[in-house]
Amino acid sequence: MADYKAPLKDLEFVLYDMLDYEQHYASLPGCEEANRELITAIVEEAAKFCENVLAPLNAVGDEHGCDWQDGVVTTPPGFKEAYQQFVEGGWPSINHSVDYGGQGLPESVGTIISEMTGAANWAWSMYPGLSHGAMNTLAQHGTDEQKSVYLTKLVEGSWTGTMCLTEAHCGTDLGMLKTRAEPQDDGSYRIQGSKIFISAGDHDLAENIVHIVLARLPDAPEGTKGISLFIVPKYLPAEDGSVGERNAVTCGSIEHKMGIHGNATCVLNFDDATGYLIGPPNRGLHCMFTFMNTARLGTALQGLAHAEVGYQKSLSYAKERLQMRALSGPKNPSGPADPIIVHPDVRRMLLTQKAFAEGGRMLIHYCSQLVDIEQLSDDAGRKTEAADLLAFLTPIAKAFLTETGFEAANHALQCFGGHGYIREWGVEQNVRDARIAMLYEGTTGIQALDLLGRKVLMSQGELLKRFTKVVHKFCKANEDNEQLAEFVQPLAKLNNQWGEITMHIGLSAMENQEEVGAAAVDYLMYSGYAVYAYLWARAAKTAMEHEAAEGAFYRAKVKTARFYFKRLLPRTESLVVAMKSGAGNLLDFEDSEF
Ligand SMILES: Cc1cc2nc3c(=O)[nH]c(=O)nc-3n(C[C@H](O)[C@H](O)[C@H](O)COP(=O)(O)OP(=O)(O)OC[C@H]3O[C@@H](n4cnc5c(N)ncnc54)[C@H](O)[C@@H]3O)c2cc1C
Repeated sequence: MADYKAPLKDLEFVLYDMLDYEQHYASLPGCEEANRELITAIVEEAAKFCENVLAPLNAVGDEHGCDWQDGVVTTPPGFKEAYQQFVEGGWPSINHSVDYGGQGLPESVGTIISEMTGAANWAWSMYPGLSHGAMNTLAQHGTDEQKSVYLTKLVEGSWTGTMCLTEAHCGTDLGMLKTRAEPQDDGSYRIQGSKIFISAGDHDLAENIVHIVLARLPDAPEGTKGISLFIVPKYLPAEDGSVGERNAVTCGSIEHKMGIHGNATCVLNFDDATGYLIGPPNRGLHCMFTFMNTARLGTALQGLAHAEVGYQKSLSYAKERLQMRALSGPKNPSGPADPIIVHPDVRRMLLTQKAFAEGGRMLIHYCSQLVDIEQLSDDAGRKTEAADLLAFLTPIAKAFLTETGFEAANHALQCFGGHGYIREWGVEQNVRDARIAMLYEGTTGIQALDLLGRKVLMSQGELLKRFTKVVHKFCKANEDNEQLAEFVQPLAKLNNQWGEITMHIGLSAMENQEEVGAAAVDYLMYSGYAVYAYLWARAAKTAMEHEAAEGAFYRAKVKTARFYFKRLLPRTESLVVAMKSGAGNLLDFEDSEF
């Protein structure tokens, strides 16, 4: 069984048939070169690298894990060589500025490639993934000199990046962080403190590592308003830009963890390490949001990756594994039993994975289109609309894709029966690797508070309305389309209910603010199902209107949309009941009554 096959046909459907990427690139300044022919060639080349180089290393990374000896971290066998090939292929530079050695393609092209590297080998893909966030942060907030020293090396891939927020006593609540930064006469800072759980924090893939670190200046205000952002390189850059003296940042240990064993999760000790301020003092969290937004969409991709891989593996197993007969009589009379794909319950599990994986792909590349518009459009109105939609959709994408990605990975394992629990098939690794995605980059609970509290209620519902207007427009335009009625009618109803339930929570919250926290995760999940309903309705329309609509691929799209609407979307009904039940049933407990 192949470890991973890049879903090129489905990517083509989402990018070109559904989201019209050709027109999208044609409408944006600076994207003249991003024509379909070029993008297809790039994607096909990346697919080969992912299938042939990265995917075979996925189980190797899990088995071997990373090694830490006397402060030196070694990645699993083959990881370093794969990274060298990645750099030689020019992949790190694909969507970065030509001014710093990049190829100048839009962000969305990088996302297409990241979907494939992530699905082929998530743990490996985190090394370039974190560099990408560091590059975006430097590009947006760094000085010209910082860009020329650090960004060029990151774009080239000879240096990688990290993001250092978490400390032992603070993960979610960054306002409590203690790492200090003392200004020096030469304009640099001495960084003192310890960070934990730093992904790709140390390794042997690249000659240098650029840590992007949150720390406090002396006399900084308490809480999140007193945090600044620093570059702390593992090796200080020499005069000629090459790797110079070793800086005082060391890896104290690596974590032994449930999954993603191929990625080194490090304790990093900063013992008066030399650092350089990025952006204005005390505005570090604001600057770090650039990194965190990139990373939130990057983590959403992880949900898609595990759903896709689990689906591929369990589908091919379900076609081959012979057990029992179909209830309606044998489907494989010449064999000793029928393949398990004949059983309705196995189909339920396969189709749930398919609906989540393909729905996730639509949401990722839809968001990625919004990123391009926000970054590149010269039309102020279009830019603002894209930024608003993206602000609303980012927490949904991060949490809903990772929650459903984990559910999908679990269904994949279940399709294998007891064999799924055994290592050799790789589906138990997929479940273990998937679990972290709901935790890092802000847990599901925190994404939910961001969505309901910050984005929806604090904007008086404006950001929600931005999106429900898009849905409303789609429903209106297709209200007379009889073929689409089975999708458009429930979608229109749901769109109205979304506003009503938001209003209900908003009013309850005026009485008791705890109502927001009590409803938040159910609200986020409800929103995720609603966003997928819009995307699946669009997918069904696109498939029905396609010139090859009679082909199996397009028929399957419509049938998957139907499955989604009939079997998964009704979950919103129980979410509404839970949300309306209010905070009382959670808060009525005294601590001693637990
Ligand atoms: C493998 C791995 C890799 C990581 N990589 C990085 C990295 O590269 N860089 C980095 O800086 N960090 C990294 N992290 C840290 C990660 O981002 C944090 O673990 C995460 O943000 C949660 O923080 P915490 O673990 O301290 O949990 P806590 O903040 O202690 O939260 C515990 C629980 O309480 C809930 N909770 C907390 N506050 C609230 C609230 N106000 N309302 C509702 N619920 C709440 C949380 O949702 C969670 O369920 C990584 C972690 C792991 C395990």
